[in-house]
Amino acid sequence: MPASDFSQRLLAWFTRHGRRDLPWQQDPTPYRVWVSEIMLQQTQVATVIPYFERFMGRFPSVRHLAAAPLDEVLHHWSGLGYYARARNLHKAAGMVCERHGGRFPEDREVLEALPGIGRSTAGAILALACGQRHPILDGNVKRVLARHAAVQGWTGEAGVLRQLWVLADAHTPSKRVAEYTQAIMDLGATVCTRSRPACERCPVAGDCAARIAGRTGDLPTPRPKRRQPLRDTCFLIVTGPQGVLLEQRCASGIWGGLWAFPEVASEHDALVWCRERLAADDPFIRGQEPFIHMFTHFRLRITPLRVHLQDPAGCVMEGPGRVWYNSGTPAGLGIPAPVARLLEELAQEKGQAHGSYGELRTAG
Ligand code: SF4
Repeated sequence: MPASDFSQRLLAWFTRHGRRDLPWQQDPTPYRVWVSEIMLQQTQVATVIPYFERFMGRFPSVRHLAAAPLDEVLHHWSGLGYYARARNLHKAAGMVCERHGGRFPEDREVLEALPGIGRSTAGAILALACGQRHPILDGNVKRVLARHAAVQGWTGEAGVLRQLWVLADAHTPSKRVAEYTQAIMDLGATVCTRSRPACERCPVAGDCAARIAGRTGDLPTPRPKRRQPLRDTCFLIVTGPQGVLLEQRCASGIWGGLWAFPEVASEHDALVWCRERLAADDPFIRGQEPFIHMFTHFRLRITPLRVHLQDPAGCVMEGPGRVWYNSGTPAGLGIPAPVARLLEELAQEKGQAHGSYGELRTAG
């Protein structure tokens, strides 16, 4: 089948069935497309929409984003998870302002030099916002192409990836590139879905090798199974009359820049921490049931340890990187999911309505 035939069928399908009402499709500037593409990595469209709209309301341009404190950007990201994306977005916005006078670069190589922008994201920005011909290869597109050409092997392997890029490039037309790019993403998201693809509605079903061979269930080849390592940690939940103590994580790491409970390795370390930091000689530490939080590469078993201070004055003062978090403090903090969950539980225990510890949203 000529490559153009694939794209023509997809474009004809898009004209009738494609999505055109997504917020980032309205006024698709490189900045808006960039933010949407970063948000859509690892996250469903329906989840992204309200985040995108809030984000654009607060940071309507790359200059607004660059000028904002990272804390505020992380707060607007709370709930989307994978916080490195937000940190990179903020950093890249600063670079666009410094190096390019606030004008978004329209060159693939220049875009790829910005943090968090790979080949596919750069291609999507330039295709969707500028109509430039570039192939893309996000998760949805990989699935469509791997099935259509029956490409064997996990799509994360370098050799498989190379094959998919060749296919992606061969299928990308030179005209109506923006529509084609949206079309192939939509096809993967709405028809060629991970489980039970709707082949009967697919415009390229006629020559889809996976469909013909009855192999849609095993293509693309799943990632080889690895046992996710288990790590242990304890969250020290210090409560007092002013609220609950949160500390800001250092800039790097999984929750870099976010606000969380102090973390210790064990109950014994918690005791030492309380003696040193709270000047509490014999604090009563109450352990709670541990729970597991999943990350991409490992599982984190979290044991909450509770300490209540009657009078913490003079022991732990607010300062840079430390707050007593409650309804009286500003809500604009980025908070990771397991911390948000425990804060919710605390608020419920106290019989307080949602939001007593600030405006909480579940975060990844
Ligand atoms: S025919 Fe089915 S498996 Fe093949 S690309 Fe279309 S939806 Fe995917």
